[in-house]
Amino acid sequence: MTEEIAAVDAYRRSVEATVVEVHDTAVVLDRTVFYPRGGGQPGDTGSLRSGDGEVAVLDTVKRDGTVLHVIEGGNLQIGTSVEAVIDWERRHLLMRTHTALHALSAVIWRDFDAKVTGGNMEPGSARMDFELEAISVDFGREVAGVLNEELARDLPVYVHFLPREVALADPDLIRTKVNLLPDFIDPIRVIEIEGLDKQADGGTHVRSTAEVGAVVVTKTESKGKANKRIRIELAG
Ligand SMILES: [Zn+2]
Repeated sequence: MTEEIAAVDAYRRSVEATVVEVHDTAVVLDRTVFYPRGGGQPGDTGSLRSGDGEVAVLDTVKRDGTVLHVIEGGNLQIGTSVEAVIDWERRHLLMRTHTALHALSAVIWRDFDAKVTGGNMEPGSARMDFELEAISVDFGREVAGVLNEELARDLPVYVHFLPREVALADPDLIRTKVNLLPDFIDPIRVIEIEGLDKQADGGTHVRSTAEVGAVVVTKTESKGKANKRIRIELAG
């Protein structure tokens, strides 16, 4: 079982670790700062540095609970000591983007009663789909205005690990269907933007909404009845 540092400290950029499994195109470490793809957030990229040089990590994924660092070539053996280093610039962009999506979903829920139906993100840009009957350019502008006001309030963002029974009883978490998480997940990791949003979530986020900066709504489009898409980009 790999110790997943990103789950508790999203700001750790590197860690000393030991290779514990070697596969054709991936290695497993005893601990890692790499975030494995999931919940709409892409897996981290970066490198594994050892006495033999440096191996690029092209992606990070999770298979049957195991974090796989996807690599190409290299000569890593079980027992090799490495420094695992993420591409921090890319990761930090993803942290800002992911936090922006939480704020967006909270604003749409609070002001327009619409739930999220799906979403995806890249470093610096994202899309999210909502159970909305209609959408327009004006609506996108209105949402962008409210969203940027909320982000500018510099709201703190917290990571909580709540006992399952506590999470299931929290009315703020019910809308995000926390009850559908598999029974064995306990405690449940929750990301809270103070006064705005609370969701069960495995991803990495920034410490405050001011760190997200301003967001632009770049497109609004219909993806069918009661399914409308909003695309956002970080402004800078
Ligand atoms: Zn999320």
